[in-house]
Amino acid sequence: MSLTHVKAFGTEAKDKDLQEMTIMRREVQPKDVEIDILYCGVCHSDLHTTRNDWGGTVYPAVPGHEIIGKITKVGSEITKFKVGDLAGVGCLVDSCRECESCKKDLEQYCLNGSTGTYNSQDRYMANQRTYGGYSQTVVVDQDFVLSIPENLDLAATAPLLCAGITTYSPLRHWNVKEGSKVAVIGLGGLGHMAVKLAKGMGAEVTLFSRSPDKIQDALNLGADSVVISTYENEMNAVKGKFDLIIDTVPYDHDVNPYITTLGISGTLVLVGYLGKMEDMLNTVPMILGRKSVAGSVIGGIKETQEMLDFCGEKGITSEIEIIKMQDINEAYGRMLKSDVKYRFVIDMKSLA
Ligand code: NAP
Ligand code: ZN
Ligand code: ZN
Repeated sequence: MSLTHVKAFGTEAKDKDLQEMTIMRREVQPKDVEIDILYCGVCHSDLHTTRNDWGGTVYPAVPGHEIIGKITKVGSEITKFKVGDLAGVGCLVDSCRECESCKKDLEQYCLNGSTGTYNSQDRYMANQRTYGGYSQTVVVDQDFVLSIPENLDLAATAPLLCAGITTYSPLRHWNVKEGSKVAVIGLGGLGHMAVKLAKGMGAEVTLFSRSPDKIQDALNLGADSVVISTYENEMNAVKGKFDLIIDTVPYDHDVNPYITTLGISGTLVLVGYLGKMEDMLNTVPMILGRKSVAGSVIGGIKETQEMLDFCGEKGITSEIEIIKMQDINEAYGRMLKSDVKYRFVIDMKSLA
């Protein structure tokens, strides 16, 4: 198979800055499309991967899984897209398509291991890793390519491909509807999308934040109220209140104070921190209130399309700060300080 060299931005080691590099993309196969990348959102998972926070990063690593672009080539068997169409790619570019999960449109839970948009073994090329959207182009099987609503701002739509679907999926799974009481922990990329999407579904939304300077923004984004999680009186005031809490905090933290704010049969769903929690779960409020602590990862392709269409109908996009590719290391520094309002999006023209 012939390969194309494209410019990208990635890192050679966990303690190295990201820098320009060249990667290879496969030639377009019968079911593939080639996408010229216009915008790529910056997810905290990109940072975790480049720094090997979760283990398993293979270098060089090129992150980016909130990809929006235009189709420049289509394979001979493409039916869903044509050259010139807008297209999106999220966190997945392939899966086994045969297991029980894949058959239920839950490719994110593929029992044989789905293929991530970056830092995965490529299913087409032996000994090749997948490289993400901090690059000029990407080649993806059409089954993993999303259609983009025409009415939304393109740059502000990119973050829907991860931050959007990661919060939309649990909101749907736990049946959030008109009048549901939903809380979101952390106002970053995922958190601000959770606020907007839950509001779009008709929920009453509360934000838990450590950052008093984000209160006004949260209210402007649609939150009905904000609780500063370090203020005990404010935490006490919402005891027993919520049906669902979406916890987007990226690092280890004590979830017990939040569990007491769940109502009977409520669920706290973790989407942020991946790893062992130091503070043990106190089972008392869980047992005595039939409460659950759950987890959730991104969403399947069908649900991602449903989320994009929902956002198109409701006019929901991300609040973004557009950066150049060359500003990425500084952007990571700000992300570590929770200083993102509320998603960085790279204008990929800056890489050309
Ligand atoms: P982000 O933009 O950096 O936002 C995280 C927010 O969490 C911060 O803005 C901050 O909000 C709060 N926070 C940060 N550090 C904290 C700490 N030590 N204790 C308490 N709160 C803290 O990150 P993101 O892109 O939204 O991603 C959030 C996490 O989700 C990351 O770990 C990412 O890897 C993960 N993720 C998971 C999935 C999935 O499928 N499950 C998908 C995408 C991302 P306040 O200032 O309001 O407190
Ligand atoms: Zn992500
Ligand atoms: Zn599968």
